[in-house]
Amino acid sequence: MSNKYTLPRYSVGVGDRYAHQAKAQLTACIQAAKEGVEVIPVWNKSNREHTIIGTEPSQTRAAADAAVKALGWKSPYFVDADHITLKTVDRFLEPCDFFTLDVADEIGKPAQPEDVDGFLARHPELIGEVRIPRIAEPFKTDGGFVRGVANKFLAAIKDAGRIYRLIVERKGDGSFVPEISMDETDLPQTPVELLIILAAIADEKIPIQTIAPKFTGRFNKGVDYVGDVAQFAKEFEEDLAAIDFAVKRYGLPANLKLSVHSGSDKFSIYKSIHDALVKFDAGVHVKTAGTTWLEEVIGLAEAGGDGLVIAKEVYRGAYEHAEELCKPYATVIDIDFAKLPKPEQVDGWTSEQFTSTLRHDQSNAAYNRSFRQLVHVGFKIAAKMGDRYLHALDVNEEIVGRNVTTNLYDRHIRPIFLGR
Ligand SMILES: [Zn+2]
Repeated sequence: MSNKYTLPRYSVGVGDRYAHQAKAQLTACIQAAKEGVEVIPVWNKSNREHTIIGTEPSQTRAAADAAVKALGWKSPYFVDADHITLKTVDRFLEPCDFFTLDVADEIGKPAQPEDVDGFLARHPELIGEVRIPRIAEPFKTDGGFVRGVANKFLAAIKDAGRIYRLIVERKGDGSFVPEISMDETDLPQTPVELLIILAAIADEKIPIQTIAPKFTGRFNKGVDYVGDVAQFAKEFEEDLAAIDFAVKRYGLPANLKLSVHSGSDKFSIYKSIHDALVKFDAGVHVKTAGTTWLEEVIGLAEAGGDGLVIAKEVYRGAYEHAEELCKPYATVIDIDFAKLPKPEQVDGWTSEQFTSTLRHDQSNAAYNRSFRQLVHVGFKIAAKMGDRYLHALDVNEEIVGRNVTTNLYDRHIRPIFLGR
C-alpha cells in the first residue's frame, strides 16, 4: 500500500533555521536527480529551534512550497515536525506531513508489569537464539534480557502511540509519515534492542516509515563522527537486517528505513552508510539540520563588508552567551573552550580567515571544530538581530545559496547516496 505519503527510498532531512535557503537546498536534490539518484527533501525544524528563533512551523511549510513551485520540483517532499511530543505537537499539525515522535524522555521510565508480561507472552521468538537472515551470529537472549529491554522501552512506545493516534485523529489515517526517534538519549541501542523495540512498535500499531535509534559513537552538532567507524558499520548493517526482518515478521510498512539524526557532517561514516545501503538494497533518511545555518554564516563572511561584520557579531554573541546557548544541546556538543579564539581576535580576521576556521574542511589547518560547534548552537544570536540578519541573507542570496547547495550536494548527498 503506498500513496503520496509513502516516503521514497532515499531522503535527506534539511534544516533551514531562517526559512531562506529552501531553494538552495532543493537545488542540491535537483543536482542529485541529474546524476541519476532520486533524493527527496524533507524540511525539518524541531520545536526547540522554532522556540529559540521565534518562528512557526507554517513558515517552514510556506518556504518549502515556494521553493518547490519556483524550481518546478515534481517528486515528493515533506515538512517534518521534528522531535515533537504530546505537549508540543499542536502547532505542527496543520503544516506538517512528517512527524518525528520523540520519546527519548520516556525511555527508562518503568513500564506497567502487565504490559511487560504481555509483551513476553506475545514474543517467544525474541527469547533464546534469535536468527536473523544476513546476520552471521545469532543474537543470544534470555527472558531476563528481553524483560529488561521491554521494561526500558515500553512506556516510551506507549507514549508514541498516544501522539500517533492524536495526529491520526486530527489529520486522518495514512496522511503523514510517522517516525519514532530515540537518538537524544544517553545510551545507544544495539541491533537486538532495535528488533525488540520494533516488535513493540508493531504491537502498538504505529506504521512507522522511519526509525531513529541512537547509534554507537558521538554525533556532535556540526562536526565529524567521534567513535569506532568499524563498530558503527557493523551495527548499521545489523540494524538494516533487523529492520528487514521486523518488516516481514511484524508487518511494519515495507518502506521502513533507518533515520540517521546525524547532527550534520558525519563525513567519516558516510562511506559505511553508502556501502551498507548497496549491500542490503536498503533506503535511508539522513537529517543534516544545522549544516545549512553554518553555510549562511560562511556565505556572509565570504561576502565581506557588512556580511563579514555580521558573521563576527554572531561569533562574539555566541562566545559571550556560550553557557546559555550550549545548555539545550549539552548531550550533543563537545566544545574545548581553550581552543576558542577571543572575539577581539576574530574581529581582526579577513573573510578568508573566518571561513577557513568555520568551514568543515578537515584538510585545512585553520579549521577549528570547537569554533564550528559554538557557531552551530549560536543561531539564536542571529535571531536576535532580526531583520538585519534576514536582510543580509537577501542581499547576499547568491553567495550564501552557492555555499548551501555545494555543501549539501558535495559533502552530504554525493558521498551518502552516490558513493563518491
Ligand atoms: Zn534527532
